[in-house]
Amino acid sequence: MAAKIIDGKQVAQTMREEIKQEVEKLKKDNIVPGLGVILVGEDPASQSYVRAKEKACEKIGIYSDDNRLPADTKQDELMAPIKRMNNDPKINGILVQLPLPDHINETDVLLAINPDKDVDGFHPMNIGKMVAGEKTFWPCTPHGVIQLLQRSGVKIEGAEVVIVGRSNIVGKPLANMLIQKAPTGNATVTVCHTRTKDLAFHTKRADILVAAAGKPEMITADMVKEGAVVIDVGVNRVEDPSKEKGYRLTGDVDFEAVKEKASLITPVPGGVGPMTITMLLYNTLESAKKAAGKV
Ligand code: NDP
Repeated sequence: MAAKIIDGKQVAQTMREEIKQEVEKLKKDNIVPGLGVILVGEDPASQSYVRAKEKACEKIGIYSDDNRLPADTKQDELMAPIKRMNNDPKINGILVQLPLPDHINETDVLLAINPDKDVDGFHPMNIGKMVAGEKTFWPCTPHGVIQLLQRSGVKIEGAEVVIVGRSNIVGKPLANMLIQKAPTGNATVTVCHTRTKDLAFHTKRADILVAAAGKPEMITADMVKEGAVVIDVGVNRVEDPSKEKGYRLTGDVDFEAVKEKASLITPVPGGVGPMTITMLLYNTLESAKKAAGKV
């Protein structure tokens, strides 16, 4: 039987409405959540992510402080807007768009962000808190995956979850969230990567399979258990002369074949993607509420 499609756009829209209502409530107390965004250089993908983030802020009433810096910005010059926004009460979240140019040390930059404003959840202190199961900002993409599962009625507790990919922004944090003793966790998690000996052996055991490898359509139907929930985080450009742009976007999952075997599946685009920005808005709202003593 063909899988039910998890409509990430719809879930994201519902969550953004919820966030907007909370932002409006705060505004009655003269509190306007603010997000500071820093973009170094002119990478087209980064520019388009930053534009999307700022547009999303505007739509739900979050103030955004936009900082565009040239590609040859020196590390200490990049620290200046971070320091300014660390101390600016109008700013509740600071986001430095990654990747940064090679001459800038990413770890030093992430360490410079005030952990209370680290709405991407990449500051080592917040990563430590997440691993220890303390309340903190959760990184947006893996948090978006958990929201999609929960809001689609998927039981995480006790599930065998297999994650393909161990990056610091998706695989590792997601695995940590899912093993926490919490309603959003209590899963049994396996994390696979390029050194995994028999990938299909693991993926075929998964009740919930998360693909976050960045390899177009690498998860084929024979790698998936009948009735599994399949979450595709991957976003890959593949050449397609029939498209005006000459390419199309595809996930890490062979969607057409896998949807015949899965019980629930996310499409690409329109699955996890819209959730990532939504969780950034969520973290910024939570930060504003905390700063105002409302949580
Ligand atoms: P990275 O390249 O940082 O990590 C990829 C991971 O996948 C690595 O751990 C790598 O293993 C593993 N991997 C790659 N190929 C294979 C393979 N053949 N078999 C098993 N494991 C493999 O990617 P990201 O985590 O940053 O992103 C993953 C994908 O998710 C990308 O397509 C990216 O565009 C997308 N993405 C989407 C977002 C969204 O909002 N929808 C947000 C963030 C990312 P190893 O560690 O051994 O190299």
